[in-house]
Formats: sequence, C-alpha cells, structure tokens
Amino acid sequence: KMINVQNVSKTFILHQQNGVRLPVLNRASLTVNAGECVVLHGHSGSGKSTLLNLLMGYIDAASGNIYYDDQPLNRISSASLSACLSLIQQNVFIFDDTLHANISMYKDFDKDELEKVIAISGLTEVSKEKGRAYRCGENGKNLSGGERQRVAIARALLRNTPILFVDEATSALDNATAQKVEEAILSIQNQTCICVTHRLQAETLAQFDEILVMHHGTLCESGTFNELLDRKQVFYSLYKLSAA
Ligand code: ADP
Ligand code: MG
Repeated sequence: KMINVQNVSKTFILHQQNGVRLPVLNRASLTVNAGECVVLHGHSGSGKSTLLNLLMGYIDAASGNIYYDDQPLNRISSASLSACLSLIQQNVFIFDDTLHANISMYKDFDKDELEKVIAISGLTEVSKEKGRAYRCGENGKNLSGGERQRVAIARALLRNTPILFVDEATSALDNATAQKVEEAILSIQNQTCICVTHRLQAETLAQFDEILVMHHGTLCESGTFNELLDRKQVFYSLYKLSAA
C-alpha cells in the first residue's frame, strides 16, 4: 500500500483550564510508495511518534489528509486498518504465557516460517536454551529487555502485513542485533515500511529507499542517504554530529 500524508497538523492541549497548546505537527507531508522502506529521522520531540499515531488512527489530525492508496484514512474501518498494519515499538506487551504463544500470538504458522522469523529476530539461541515452552512471566519479567524486543519483532514479522511501522524498536538492542533486525525489515518484499530510528549507521541507512528528516513537526528534507549527504544540510549535520 502507498501512504500519503498531506499537510497534516496536530496540536496537543496540555492544560484544559488555561488552554496551553503544544503544536506538534505543522503541515507535515510525505509519500511512501507501495513496497518502499523509508527511515523517519529527527531529534527527540520532533513529532515522529505522533505522526505514526495519526497514521494508525489512534489520534485524529487537526487538519490535513492521510490516504492509504486512494482511500482517506477516515473512511477505513479500524478493523481493516489494524489488519493491514503492524507496529513494532519499544514498549512490548508480553503475556504471562510461553515464549511460543508470545511469538505466535495464538495463531498457527508454518514451521519453516516460524523458524525463519525466529532466526531473523535473533531469538534462535533464546528459544534453544530456554525452549519454546518457557514461561515469559507477568509482563515478560523472565525475559531481558532485548529478548522482549525480539519477541515483538518476531510477532510483527510473522503477521506479515502490507504495512509495517517501526518506532525506535532497535534502540534497546546492541548494534549488531539492531543492524540484523533492520536488515531483516529491509529484506521483506512488498511491504511498505516506515522505520523511526535515530541510529545513524551508514551501512543500513544506505539501503533504505528514502530518508525523511523531521524537524519541529515538519518534514524538512528527504532523499537517499547519499543524496542527503551531498546536499550538506540538516541530515548531513545530524550525521556528522553522530559520527563525531
Ligand atoms: P518523537 O517521537 O519525535 O520523539 P513525539 O511525537 O513523541 O516525538 O512528541 C512530539 C511532542 O509532542 C513532544 O513534545 C511530546 O511531549 C508531545 N506529545 C506527544 N504526545 C502527546 C500527548 N498525547 N499529549 C500531549 N503532548 C504530547
Ligand atoms: Mg517517539
């Protein structure tokens, strides 16, 4: 599916009584073509998660339009929207059940497919050591933060929806695993993907179709990794800073 965001603005009312307003998105526009995988990059607080929340229909925009293919978001039922979207976030909900149940979410999957996803998510060792019947515990207390994150990644990859949103999901992982996960996401064919990340690693960034740079609630720059470096503007300075 293609994602099209046109001039979307969002303001949060911080205080009902005195009406303190926080403009978070200011006429943000972007297009992600069907099957493309893009990075959404920007400093903390620039509105990246808010934009994803709007795209998922969790919150409403003050103005502007969001389309999936030619369909306006507000005409898509929440059931059909959630059937075609997956989100990988930092806060993962883990059930007090087995590792297998937490990965499969009580659905049946082909064994090979399951193995493939477990390998991609970096869960092979964990699932060998602990076993698929391992109890994750309440809120996944028997798993490490990185393991919980990998379960969330496996879950989303198994669902294999036409659209995938990734919100800083690799931040808690070590660099090698994070890179493996990003490459796994990049390798999925026919999936439209927006990947919010502040990891600036040339090897992975160069593989994304486009990098969208967000600054104070607007999309200020976009292009491939090399285009943005050549342009020597916002992304270039962020990249140089992180490499320094
Ligand atoms: P990012 O994901 O780029 O770090 P966010 O989209 O989470 O940024 O947040 C952008 C700004 O909006 C921040 O200042 C944040 O505090 C504020 N914000 C986000 N969600 C809410 C909310 N539900 N109510 C009030 N303010 C919010
Ligand atoms: Mg965020």
